[in-house]
Amino acid sequence: MDSLKIATNKKKNFNFKVGNLTIGKDLLIIAGPCAIENKDQIIQTAKAVKKSGANILRGGAYKPRTSPYSFQGLGEEGLKYLLEAKKITGLPIISEVMDTKEVQTISKYVDVIQIGARNMQNFELLKAVGKQNKPVLLKRGPSATINEWLNAAEYILKEGNEKVILCERGIRTFENYTRNTIDLSAVATVKNLTNLPIVVDPSHGTGRKELIESMSLASIASGADGLIIETHINPNESISDKDQTINPKELFKIIKKVKKLNEFMKKIK
Ligand code: PEP
Ligand code: MN
Repeated sequence: MDSLKIATNKKKNFNFKVGNLTIGKDLLIIAGPCAIENKDQIIQTAKAVKKSGANILRGGAYKPRTSPYSFQGLGEEGLKYLLEAKKITGLPIISEVMDTKEVQTISKYVDVIQIGARNMQNFELLKAVGKQNKPVLLKRGPSATINEWLNAAEYILKEGNEKVILCERGIRTFENYTRNTIDLSAVATVKNLTNLPIVVDPSHGTGRKELIESMSLASIASGADGLIIETHINPNESISDKDQTINPKELFKIIKKVKKLNEFMKKIK
């Protein structure tokens, strides 16, 4: 890992606050729909995931879609609904930014800015989020090496923003039964090389809801600081990523097990 200065500095403590949470210390459970579809959907989902034990609410307003004909997200209108859901539930919120032009707008609404996998090496975007002081969740590119990913984080850190959370969301391999292949050795590697907090996204990592629980547990056992899980009040009606989206009841069961495992992991440390 040459050329890294800040990311791999093991003397640094990269813990920081989001609401009442201390990132890097408290177990992070980010849950919510792939996309904000309407006001009712995000508010109902927010209330339900809070009840299930999630501590940050996710919801995409600007969506990176493979097809230009697919739903592209509600944009700023969606962010307004997300903020309303925050006001009702008290949950901090996270949403993706896709363009440097949107950084200022998004920063007005969210507690954490998400850089999506497809933009991991959009260097202008990385520099732009590095120049503002909202925390950033940086997803690993679908074909990025760990070195490239940590260098992407370095771009943000170098600009002065040291509130970075890494997110392993699966990489593209020859396997196509799953949407991506979750690289849990990357979680262990990041933990060895850096003090940066890291979460795993088993939703995009597998593309299959029946695999979310096992991969959530495996992620925590690998040393992850938390999870980001696509959850919808009514997954079957989800406009995007329906096959990998669980309902709040399923989320509750997963969180219960994940919390137990996390306690056990702390005990054997
Ligand atoms: C998402 O979190 O909704 C998303 C688009 O994820 P990724 O960038 O990992 O594909
Ligand atoms: Mn999604």
